[in-house]
Amino acid sequence: MKKVDALVLRTIDYGESHKILTLLTPTYGKIAVMARGAKKPSSQLGSISQPFTYGTYLLMISERGMGTVAQADLIDSFRKIREDLFKTAYASYMMELIDRFTEEREPSAGIFLLALTLLSYLADDKDPEVLMRLTEVKMLDFAGIRPDLFHCANCGQPVETTIRFSIIKGGPLCSDCQASDERAIWIKPATLRLLQTFQAMDVRRLGEINVGEDVRRQMNKVLRQYYDEYSGVQLRTRAFLDQLHKYELDF
Ligand SMILES: [Zn+2]
Repeated sequence: MKKVDALVLRTIDYGESHKILTLLTPTYGKIAVMARGAKKPSSQLGSISQPFTYGTYLLMISERGMGTVAQADLIDSFRKIREDLFKTAYASYMMELIDRFTEEREPSAGIFLLALTLLSYLADDKDPEVLMRLTEVKMLDFAGIRPDLFHCANCGQPVETTIRFSIIKGGPLCSDCQASDERAIWIKPATLRLLQTFQAMDVRRLGEINVGEDVRRQMNKVLRQYYDEYSGVQLRTRAFLDQLHKYELDF
């Protein structure tokens, strides 16, 4: 038996009454475990088998095969997220990003802390769009596609500010190299600065950030196209988020 702090990244139903939980733990990394009977109303495992739940889990795990949850103590159910359709969509997106770029059974205290901090911020009503962009920037490292945001992607000289970001070349362009990619995305200097800040910062230090509409739109565009170009992953939760966003605009 192993006792570990864990976050539930996602769950799937298994048979009539069981659930398979994808847990993120600092000590064992990401692991899939069976929660037997978790779908039964009387089950003690019901409340700790929900997405985004944070708890201490007692697990039976072996070298091979799927582990089993013996019991668990709830630390935080993040009820404020699960009871809100929008927050649920944002959390699902952030946890999917983390899930897709995390290997099974590779311990990472850093990624666990990132996930937990992001969910706490979302529950505490921090700006969800800022949190999603922060997740995207941070996960570039774990996905192995970290862009160099401080040097020109064309000539390598230091770039303090820019007005163009080249997806194809994979970073900002200096003033001499603006013409090297005619499809480069126009961005404000503030957009590059925020990307740099997010890349370098300790997520626990995120204060209140006021981000203008232009910068939001540009960050979203740069990150989305960068992921599309380099990550090789289609995110399931993104389509739903896009739908929600449209609905918000129409409303
Ligand atoms: Zn250059």
